[in-house]
Amino acid sequence: MLNEKTEIELIEMDKEHFLHPTSNVKEQQENGPAIIFKSGEGIYLEDLNGKKYIEGMSSLWNVNIGYGRKELAETAKQQIEELSFSSTFSTYSHKPAIKLARKISELAPGDLNTVFFTSGGSEANDSAIKLARHYWNIKEQPERRKIISRKKAYHGVAMGATSATGIPEFWEFAGLSPEFYHIETTSSDELKNIIEEEGPETIAAFMAEPILGAGGVIVPPENYFKEVRDICDQYNILFIADEVITGFGRTGKMFGMEHWKVIPDMMTIAKGVSSGYVPLGGVVLSEKVHKVIKDKTEGTLFHGYTYSGHPVATAVALKNIDILEKESLIENTRDMGRELLTGLEKLEEDLTVLGESRSVGLLAAVEIYKNKEKKEHFDNKQAPLIVKEAAKRGLICRAVTYDEADTIVLAPPLIINKKQIVKIITILEEAIKVVTKNQNVS
Ligand code: PLP
Repeated sequence: MLNEKTEIELIEMDKEHFLHPTSNVKEQQENGPAIIFKSGEGIYLEDLNGKKYIEGMSSLWNVNIGYGRKELAETAKQQIEELSFSSTFSTYSHKPAIKLARKISELAPGDLNTVFFTSGGSEANDSAIKLARHYWNIKEQPERRKIISRKKAYHGVAMGATSATGIPEFWEFAGLSPEFYHIETTSSDELKNIIEEEGPETIAAFMAEPILGAGGVIVPPENYFKEVRDICDQYNILFIADEVITGFGRTGKMFGMEHWKVIPDMMTIAKGVSSGYVPLGGVVLSEKVHKVIKDKTEGTLFHGYTYSGHPVATAVALKNIDILEKESLIENTRDMGRELLTGLEKLEEDLTVLGESRSVGLLAAVEIYKNKEKKEHFDNKQAPLIVKEAAKRGLICRAVTYDEADTIVLAPPLIINKKQIVKIITILEEAIKVVTKNQNVS
């Protein structure tokens, strides 16, 4: 029986049989898994040896309501017993998917009113890209195919999503699809320039995360998205907001774009919609896009996943959103986000190696510098070492080291309280001190 295996046996089985996603394969082969998790409750995960960790990243920025909620287990059980699966292809439907589509439409800003379901964020972004091209095809502008996105963006690993991703390592892996272009991260002028250069009549859509997540929690200038919206309108280009991380409360609003009161033409969602209890994602379409699709698509819409609108996933997501609302977790995110930022700023004052703390809600980051006045980084990146030290002390956080960055990122569950934030800051401080004590700080 598997549960009688010792940790050593599990490590060997893992090395031999489990190719890990987005992983350092050599490290995995040499050392096996760093942690084998066993259970989770609240903001904590526990490993096989009973060691507890604060999950300062909500796993992959997704477990918004925290771990181990019995209500979600109960909802999944009931739904599996009643209707474990049925198709939503063609004109088949079922209650949980209908109710969730309606609920998301109510929550989404502006005229974002119709949902196409997927199993996760990559499929959501691929679907948005394909729906954008379909939109232009049926509007008899088939030459509008190009997708513009941003450097440092992460949109997932399906072929279109990975091509829109602005981190080149992801294309070097399997090749970049044609007709994808990447511009500087926070310059709306660059968007205008590339549209002019390529010709607006060849461009289908611009895709952007409200706040870049995996790229290092990069917050745009105040007017950036307003300008983006105006440029897209001026050139008649669809604007797709990737709310996979920022959706469902993470930034202290239901959706990230609400910070700038900008309404995209399509919005992609995943992660927090189900807090990771079940895989789910989707594209929320504006009335403008939906009207063209419903009026002009002849015959079949040739796009759909077996698990588009899975009954168990949609039922669990409805319950998850219910909890988010009933427990006022978005308000808590705003309050605890301020606590977290205050804690990071205090650390910045105390530790010469820290700079540029930033957060929007519970999406936060801080830079590690050799010389923060000159914004000079250490030759060897410190953030990955700090992350390892923090894990030893019971805190999981993430290092971002693309390009110049040497960044620590935090995105704890939205249920976190003040005492737990203080604990995060304390562990981080210890880990930073231990790692950087022998470094030459200038
Ligand atoms: N978009 C963003 C902003 C993400 O951060 C991610 C995943 O981290 C994705 C898309 C891809 O989502 P998934 O991993 O569910 O396919």
